[in-house]
Amino acid sequence: MMTSNICAVSLRLNLNKYIDLIIKKINNKTVKLIKFYNFINYNLIYNNKAINRYKKDIFEISGDKAESLEKLKKSISNIKNCELKNNSTNNVFSDGNPKSKIMLIGEGPGSNEDQEGLPFVGQAGALLDKMLASIQLDRKNVYITNVVNYRPPENRSPTDEEIRRYVPYLKKHIEIIQPKIIVLLGSTAMNALMESDEVISKVRGKWIDKQIGKCKTSIIVTFHPAFLMRQSTQKKLAWIDLKMIRDKKAKLKI
Ligand code: URA
Repeated sequence: MMTSNICAVSLRLNLNKYIDLIIKKINNKTVKLIKFYNFINYNLIYNNKAINRYKKDIFEISGDKAESLEKLKKSISNIKNCELKNNSTNNVFSDGNPKSKIMLIGEGPGSNEDQEGLPFVGQAGALLDKMLASIQLDRKNVYITNVVNYRPPENRSPTDEEIRRYVPYLKKHIEIIQPKIIVLLGSTAMNALMESDEVISKVRGKWIDKQIGKCKTSIIVTFHPAFLMRQSTQKKLAWIDLKMIRDKKAKLKI
């Protein structure tokens, strides 16, 4: 009887030791895992979706601005006889902070953007987010739109006629946002707003003061992120442009 009691106690002690060991191992593994996720910056790598989408309640824009944006979005949705609109799912209107004084303008939505109804959510968007982060910006402090709001079929570039159709809406968009800085991403945006046929390599990296409707603004042209993904040697020039944007922002105190 006594022997069997001793055996039971020793078994329990051993079992407790074993359980302690397992708990310690699990804890060590969890701590290591947390450290690893921090190390690889889990959010940056796996959470490609931009944070703080265009939501007027989050950014608390005034009634007038919110109303004007809604009205503009509606008038774009009412465009008739447009091949772009007829072949798309969503009106990709904008993303980011409508109170921002920095407005980024791309070319037009791709298939991810068309599905989500938001600009720059695909691979080019991920690079754009990294470019912004390199100068301490993100979608909470910039506003983003495109020259055309509907996806061109087969990811082709918008035609001149399509650009002419959408530019008045883009100019109205700029008048509503009143940006102090406009960043034109790529040659489609540059040609649409600068009304020039210059090559982008000649125009990028300079500040150009311009009046667009009722908005006086400074424009800088830089390479489109999709182009930079194909031509990574050009990233060093894009970095010069990004630093110019960072410095201008500081100078304007915006
Ligand atoms: N390219 C663009 O120009 N705009 C987008 O929204 C996505 C990719």
